[in-house]
Amino acid sequence: MDCLFCKIINGEIPSSKVYEDDKVIAFNDINPVAPYHILVVPKKHYDSIADISEKEMEIVAHIHNIINKIAIDKGFSDAGFRIINNCGSDGGQEVKHLHYHVLAGKKLPNYEANQK
Ligand code: 5GP
Ligand code: ZN
Repeated sequence: MDCLFCKIINGEIPSSKVYEDDKVIAFNDINPVAPYHILVVPKKHYDSIADISEKEMEIVAHIHNIINKIAIDKGFSDAGFRIINNCGSDGGQEVKHLHYHVLAGKKLPNYEANQK
């Protein structure tokens, strides 16, 4: 499959890796919008969160657990962070492989205000 994040997962395209286990990889976004901008991605290809069945949902809990670990490891857990999942065309998803953005390291702008 011609998928950018599958290529990053299999090493075809290099990335700046933050974390890896058998189910998940995390790497720095190539175009960061905050001092920390980490993408957390399941190794199994799902097009988006809408592509995950109820019985596969435990991968989402695993991703959130890993985000907590990364936040502690990088030292931004106490100051706070933002998790973003863009889903589908209206949600602004550009890479069609499920991923969570983790933004941290500065006071982020009010999210709702940006959407007006
Ligand atoms: P989306 O808009 O799909 O939620 O987010 C896709 C993200 O992937 C964007 O923030 C973009 O900067 C990032 N991205 C696109 N291509 C690459 C790449 O080749 N390497 C890395 N590390 N990030 C990428
Ligand atoms: Zn993929």
